[in-house]
Amino acid sequence: MKTYLNYINGTWMSSQSGELLDSIDPATGALVAHTQSSTAHDVELAVQTVSDAYTGSDWGSNSHRRANALLKWADAIEARAEVLAALLTSENGKPIREARVEIAGAIDALRYCAGMARNVFGRTFQPAADNFGFIMKEPIGVVAVITPWNWPVLLLFRDLAPCLAAGNGVIIKPAERTGAITAELLALLADIPAFPAGIAALVTGLGTVVGNALVEHPAVDMICFTGSTAVGKVLMQKAAAGVKKVALELGGKSPNLVFEDADLTRAIETSCRSLFMTSGQICMAGSRLLVHESVYEKAVDIAKTFAESLRVGHGRLETTDMGPIISEKQLDKVLHYIEQGRREGRVITGGYRLRGAEYDNGLFIAPTILDNLSPSSCVVQEEIFGPVLVMEKFRTEEEAIRLANITPYGLSAGVWTKDVSRALRVARQVQAGTVWVNGYNKSYAEAESGGYKHSGIGRARGVEGLMEFTETKHVNISI
Ligand code: NAP
Repeated sequence: MKTYLNYINGTWMSSQSGELLDSIDPATGALVAHTQSSTAHDVELAVQTVSDAYTGSDWGSNSHRRANALLKWADAIEARAEVLAALLTSENGKPIREARVEIAGAIDALRYCAGMARNVFGRTFQPAADNFGFIMKEPIGVVAVITPWNWPVLLLFRDLAPCLAAGNGVIIKPAERTGAITAELLALLADIPAFPAGIAALVTGLGTVVGNALVEHPAVDMICFTGSTAVGKVLMQKAAAGVKKVALELGGKSPNLVFEDADLTRAIETSCRSLFMTSGQICMAGSRLLVHESVYEKAVDIAKTFAESLRVGHGRLETTDMGPIISEKQLDKVLHYIEQGRREGRVITGGYRLRGAEYDNGLFIAPTILDNLSPSSCVVQEEIFGPVLVMEKFRTEEEAIRLANITPYGLSAGVWTKDVSRALRVARQVQAGTVWVNGYNKSYAEAESGGYKHSGIGRARGVEGLMEFTETKHVNISI
């Protein structure tokens, strides 16, 4: 059994607590690895050493060095991709095919940001004959990156790659459940001399201990958080005390809007796939499926057939479409929402925990579809983060838009129609950081993503995603 250490100041070390956390395979209940249960003392050391590495090296000013380091890290991850994907599947439960997509996404983020590192441009202006000004972009300093367990590799690099490309030092606090895969990725960075020793640190441990200590630490200049809206709100309040910059990528309850002229089978199957991927534990999951009343019953049949065709099992099997739920706590939460949905509406398919030889040691729920729910139901309004799709009916375009915007979230949406004008009208009016037309879940390193309303603040990916990790300075010259 491997015990992973913290990575601080270019050295692997145990936590001062002497305590460990268990990393458990949610498909079997087997112990995968141990990670450090760190303390505020470990955070103190990490912040100090990252700060020293940042001020004591040319990392912030040498864009060639940064580009080179990120490219080398991408190559190292690529060379170990299959081993990393297998560990990711063991620790998180997701199908191996999906784990490979995650690793590939991380490599792509690094390569994209390596190019961006040499393109952190400001601008110039001449307001008067005797004056010249320029706007320059600088790194922020020491950034804490706090990540969730659901896409722990791709989401780590979505933030880490631009953070480092912009010239910052960074302390990573992964989710308690996915510390081992994060440590394996940092071990590859540790072997690359282009990274100054100590510029990136890993401190594993509980959010309420390590995460909290990072947010409260006066020498941490920015908090980049991906996780639940509830925790995001707490972090934002705490960060206010130190007037720290925050970037928050939070929860979602995203709708797919399927109009009567859409390619119905493609629309419904893609919407279902977007929800059942990662067992519904994905921020952008299309967890609400809004369908025009004239094709609703047909859509229900397609969705039911799709859900019942999914092969649920251990993620390491190439044939598995859907794996387990991450933890007992999350499983109970999902089952609670299903029971609420059963009481208030109709269960079209699923609605129970899977049992039997293959499932007994793991945490599996059957792909579930509910309908006949009021738009005000908590099952419609709240993020369930499990394999539970809610179907709803609409009569007009206006009603579809009103229903799409009815939850506090605004992360993403899908619009399915052959009418280009309608697609544009709806895309403009849906309050979401990403709107896909006749597709879903297509994310690119070059395209900004993020949340409206309670789904977040700031943007990840793309040019804006990199600029989130910079300060803006105006330098003005009197001629
Ligand atoms: P979470 O409970 O909010 O935890 C996220 C991270 O914050 C974990 O590392 C967690 O550590 C840490 N944390 C927890 N409490 C903290 C505190 N008081 N102070 C500082 N850090 C704290 O979320 P999760 O269950 O891991 O992930 C699921 C949520 O993330 C969903 O709501 C999902 O929609 C959202 N998400 C959003 C995006 C996006 O891009 N918008 C992407 C993925 C996921 P522990 O693991 O030790 O608790």
